[in-house]
Amino acid sequence: MTIGLRCVACGRTYDIGDRAWRCSCGGLFKLEGTALFAAAGAGSDRPWSLWRYRSSLPIFGSRDRWEQISLGEGSTPIVQDSPGVLLKLDFLMPTLSFKDRGSVVLVSAASELGVRQMVADSSGNAGVSIAAYGARAGIETEVFVPASTSPSKVFQLEAYGAVVRRITGSRDDAAAAAISRLEQTGAFYASHIYNPFFHHGTKTFAFECYEQLAGRMPDAVVIPAGNGTLLLGAALGFAELVDAGLLDRPPRLFAVQAANCSPIAKARGAHVSGSTETAAEGIAIQNPPRLEEMMRAIETTGGDLLLVDEESILRARTALLARGIDVEPTAAAGYAALDGWDSDELGTVLVALTGAGIKTPHAP
Ligand SMILES: [Zn+2]
Repeated sequence: MTIGLRCVACGRTYDIGDRAWRCSCGGLFKLEGTALFAAAGAGSDRPWSLWRYRSSLPIFGSRDRWEQISLGEGSTPIVQDSPGVLLKLDFLMPTLSFKDRGSVVLVSAASELGVRQMVADSSGNAGVSIAAYGARAGIETEVFVPASTSPSKVFQLEAYGAVVRRITGSRDDAAAAAISRLEQTGAFYASHIYNPFFHHGTKTFAFECYEQLAGRMPDAVVIPAGNGTLLLGAALGFAELVDAGLLDRPPRLFAVQAANCSPIAKARGAHVSGSTETAAEGIAIQNPPRLEEMMRAIETTGGDLLLVDEESILRARTALLARGIDVEPTAAAGYAALDGWDSDELGTVLVALTGAGIKTPHAP
């Protein structure tokens, strides 16, 4: 089956060469035609990187080109924090966030399509990651970020040669500016939210958990969720492992959001402030386009939403530092969500640590 795009709202299909970023009905895309996970097995010559899973990645065209763009991303360590609590250090990546899983797949696809110019919008880490792989693939990259983005992320973007557009307003305003730029220029939209190639990169998080833990999965996986790029990728990866007959069921997926900014709580009818005032800038998203899919991912796996307040995020960051692990506040939010974790009821847990501490420097 060839790889193609299908609108989740109306079912219309598109060729990937069309470069459409959403359906004419406004619906979002998913990818079709990718193969299921195949276990590596003994004596495998597969590399210890994302390309270990190349048979289930949406690769088309020249495989050599894809592997030339790879920076060996993936295969991040899983360490034990305490009995029943595992941490996956998913910030140990070429640009220091998990986003490299998605970017390498998305940018390789863009390169294969002959893209010369691309536009992205980001709260920081996704843009940095797209910029790095854009540089590697020789694609001109323009990134729209909220003006409040950490200066260190803006420096990282500029260092990779991206054109940076700082937009006054929220993360949603940055997205609107990027979309209007696309309409003016006809550039490729390298969106980690809309483009489903990205989620087929982040699904390798689940494959790695499966292989590194020799199939003995934790009962729950905790993931900070703004636009849900890791949550949705993990849900996809675990679902593919179930479909391949390797897991009986996926772990329960728990999404972590800041109490100050939780679109999931809002969609469930809770009264929320609607602000984006949180130190966890990577999840300061008011209106994630894939909100329904994110809610389905936690509900169908028996997971839930976990809310964390600002004080607990900063406390968790300090607690991790005392254990030798330096992450940015967004990643610390995931660890903060373990406060009050009832292991009798919820069992063992793995927390995704998503971005490195240097992304958001500590106060002097
Ligand atoms: Zn549609």
